Amino acid sequence: MATATSIERDARYSMPTFARYPLSFVSGSGAILRDEEGIEYLDLLAGIAVNSLGHAHPELAKVYAEQGAKLVHISNLYHNPERIDLEEKLVSASGQDMKVFLSNSGAEANECAIKLARRWADKQGRSGDIVTLKRSFHGRTLATTAATGNALKAALYEPVMPGFKHIEANNIAELEAAFNEPVIAFMAELILGEAGVYELDQDFLKRALELCKEKGALLIIDEVQTGIARTGSLYAHKLFDIEPDIFTLGKALGNGFPIAATLAKKEIASAFEPGDHGTTMGGNPLGSAIALRVLELMDELDLCARAEALGTFLVTQLAELEGIANIRGKGLMRGFSLAPELGISSKELANQLMTEHHILVNAPNDKDIRLLPPLIVSETEITRFIEALKTCIRKDLDE
Ligand code: PLP
Repeated sequence: MATATSIERDARYSMPTFARYPLSFVSGSGAILRDEEGIEYLDLLAGIAVNSLGHAHPELAKVYAEQGAKLVHISNLYHNPERIDLEEKLVSASGQDMKVFLSNSGAEANECAIKLARRWADKQGRSGDIVTLKRSFHGRTLATTAATGNALKAALYEPVMPGFKHIEANNIAELEAAFNEPVIAFMAELILGEAGVYELDQDFLKRALELCKEKGALLIIDEVQTGIARTGSLYAHKLFDIEPDIFTLGKALGNGFPIAATLAKKEIASAFEPGDHGTTMGGNPLGSAIALRVLELMDELDLCARAEALGTFLVTQLAELEGIANIRGKGLMRGFSLAPELGISSKELANQLMTEHHILVNAPNDKDIRLLPPLIVSETEITRFIEALKTCIRKDLDE
C-alpha cells in the first residue's frame, strides 16, 4: 500500500502525468519489492524491463559506493576510462565495426539515432522520411513522440515534427508503398513492447531489409526494451539474424541507473562532427562503471541462457491454462491475450493479481498482459505467478 500521506503528497507536488497505483515501495531485493508497510510483492515487471539483475543487487551497490567515492561526473569535455571501456564492450558484443554515443534514457538514444540518420542523409545530399510502425513506442521527446506510432499522442503537442511515415507492422503492401517515396531510414522495434509484445514477422523484416538496401535507407533497430539479454540474446537483433546500421539500448543497461546508448556503423557515425550532438551527463564515470558491471554480471550469471530457459518454462506453464490465448515474445519478454470467455479485461486481471496475490504484471491495453520479470527470477517465483493466475481465472470463469 501507499499511505494516505504519500498519495496526498503526490497529488500536491507531482505533475499529473501518471495514474499511479496506490502502492509505494521503499526497498527490494531480487524479484521482491517491499511497500511502506513491509508487505512484499513479486515484481514481474522489473521497472518496465529495467531491473534485469533484480532490485538492490549487492555487486552494483558496491560500484555505486566505490565509483561514487572516486569520480561521478566530469562532462564530455574530458576523457574517462570507464566510458571507453563500456563503449568497447558494447561494440565488441555487436560483432560489427561500430561507434557509440552514450546518453541517459531510451528516448535520448533514439533521438540521437534520428539526428544521426538525418545528418547522414544530408551529407549524401538526400532527404526523405523515416518509416516507423503504428503501435510502436520510441520515447516521449518531441522527435520520438513523432516517430512513435500513436498519432493521437503526437497530436497533443502540435505542430508534430515532420519526417516520419507510419505503416502497419507486418503489412508488406504498406511497407512497399512507403518506399515508393524517398525514405532515409526504417526504424522499428523487433518486438513491439508497449503494444503488448508483438513480434515482427520474418517475411516483413526480410522485405524491409531488402528495401533499405535497394533504396540506400538505414535500418534502425530500437532495442531499448528488447536489448541487454531480455530476449535470450544480449542484442535481440542477433536472434533475428540481422545487422542494423544503427541500434539503441537503454532500460536494463544500467539496471535502474539512467544510461542509454546509440550504436552506429563506423561510416554512418562519421556523419557527426564535434558539436553536432551532445549531452552533459551521458557517459559519466558512475553510469559507465555501473553499466560495465551490469554487463559483466550478465555474463557471470549466464543471464541470456537463463532468460531463454525460464522463458520456455513460463510459456509451457501458461500454455496449459484455460482462458489464455496467443502467448508471444522471446526469452523473458512475454505477452499473452485473455480469451473473451474470461469476461474481464487485462487491466482488471493485473489489478486482481496485485491486490489479491501481491504480484505485479503489466496490462498495456485492455486485452493483453505483458511480463518483463527480472532475469534472475526463479522457477519457484514463476510457479507462484502461475498458481495465482489459475486462481484468478477460475474465479473469473465461475462468476
Ligand atoms: N523505446 C522503447 C522500445 C521503449 O520501450 C521505451 C520505453 O518504454 C523507450 C524507447 C523510451 O525509453 P525511456 O523511457 O527511457 O526514454
